[in-house]
Amino acid sequence: PIKPINKVYMNFNNPVMFVGAGPGDPELLTLKAGKFLDRADVIIYAGSLVNPALLDGLTAEIHNSAGLDLEEIINLMATGHGAGKRVVRLHTGDPAFYGAIHEQMRALDNLGITYEIVPGVTSATAAAAALKIELTVPGISQTVIFTRQAGRTPTPDRESLSRLAAARATMMIFLSVSLIDTVVKELLSGGYPGQTPAAVVAKASWQDERIVRGCLDDIGQKAVEAGIRKTAMIVVGDVLGKSGDASKLYDAAFSHEYRQGKK
Ligand code: SAH
Repeated sequence: PIKPINKVYMNFNNPVMFVGAGPGDPELLTLKAGKFLDRADVIIYAGSLVNPALLDGLTAEIHNSAGLDLEEIINLMATGHGAGKRVVRLHTGDPAFYGAIHEQMRALDNLGITYEIVPGVTSATAAAAALKIELTVPGISQTVIFTRQAGRTPTPDRESLSRLAAARATMMIFLSVSLIDTVVKELLSGGYPGQTPAAVVAKASWQDERIVRGCLDDIGQKAVEAGIRKTAMIVVGDVLGKSGDASKLYDAAFSHEYRQGKK
């Protein structure tokens, strides 16, 4: 029997495709995501953040999910799927982060509709690229926390920003720039010094990307002065500074599987 290279292309049961759109720059769409968009019959996209340029020239029937509730979205998927159409649900960045795909997948499970996921470039790494930083610098931090300030969506108490701050790891804080004063207060109370470098990247990878740099003591005010109220990543940690150790990987004295150390 012929073995398919990739199960995503075993399209026998026509799965609904959850596709990561990337952070904004259309060139940051994966090749696979592009293929599924090109051949889609129905596209339901997360209108508030997906770059509409990604939809230019497509022949699919296109729906903006911004004004729809879960039931309406699932109905569109189920109707398209039932008619044998190829349905793509397009989510910003990578769907695994704050994509609200969990409830969509559970609803599809209940209907017996199969689905697959195509990952995307998350805005967190797009923000790191804009800032030209490594998120994991030896001697500084080897841990990255993807999180958010509790807002209308609560977060469990054990994950409050003040508790997470205790590790002083690198933090990528989604969905929270409108609450930046609270974010800063929580991080300071949790143990980050006020001089800890911090940045806000608005619309990373878009034409109108903006970066504000500072430290915990002043980043809130700077972000407010810059008028950044949404679509922004708050990045906190000493990896934004200039210190840190070199990685062992390229250390001349360090031996590993592919290279013998020189000293
Ligand atoms: N799944 C998405 C995140 C969706 S939640 C991802 O992986 O990127 C929406 C939040 O993501 C926004 O509030 C903002 O914090 C962040 N975000 C999305 N696109 C962004 C961008 N281009 N630049 C900076 N932050 C962005």
